[in-house]
Amino acid sequence: MSEAVKSYEPSADELSFRFVSGHRALDFAATCGDRYRAGIERLRQPADLDRWLRAAGISAATRASVKHLDDARQLREVIYRLARAALYNEAVDTVDLDALNAWARTPRLAPQLDKRLRREWVSSQPIRGALGLIACEAVELLSGPKRQLIRECTAAPACSMLYLDRSRGRRRRWCQMERCGSRAKMAEYRKRLGPSTDRAGVETTRTQ
Ligand SMILES: [Zn+2]
Repeated sequence: MSEAVKSYEPSADELSFRFVSGHRALDFAATCGDRYRAGIERLRQPADLDRWLRAAGISAATRASVKHLDDARQLREVIYRLARAALYNEAVDTVDLDALNAWARTPRLAPQLDKRLRREWVSSQPIRGALGLIACEAVELLSGPKRQLIRECTAAPACSMLYLDRSRGRRRRWCQMERCGSRAKMAEYRKRLGPSTDRAGVETTRTQ
């Protein structure tokens, strides 16, 4: 498996950030994708963290360092494991709890208003402050009523995305209908057509 990982270079689409979970902390967890297989690291360098923070609406005034990137990945994994434990009613790892709580105590980015009524995010340590803010949001998510809405994409293990199901009747099955949902429908359609269509060029379905 490790050999396959080394030779595998993710596509631009696989590396693109995903903001479909309905919660910033879960979107942050999704900066690592395809977790059940080789895994796709979307925060590959410090500049990726800057890009993610900007895209997530909590752009920091300074550039991320290698240490920040390392911190961000660790916090992300903690959030992912805790969210997953919450989803499956598993016991949480106390080391993860301590790590999340420590980040949640970090002075976080504060929203500030400028003269034109635009919001700015300010902190003496902007990147750490942004991670602290995400940690606080994760604490709110995992301790509040929204915890009940955490789901894992039905395409798992082909997809490892966690999201909040806010749909009416709680019937959302996919991280994204246009992605995993339509792939599944296509696979179902092919199955209904039967094995005789295999020779017509049915490709092996590999979702990310
Ligand atoms: Zn999915």
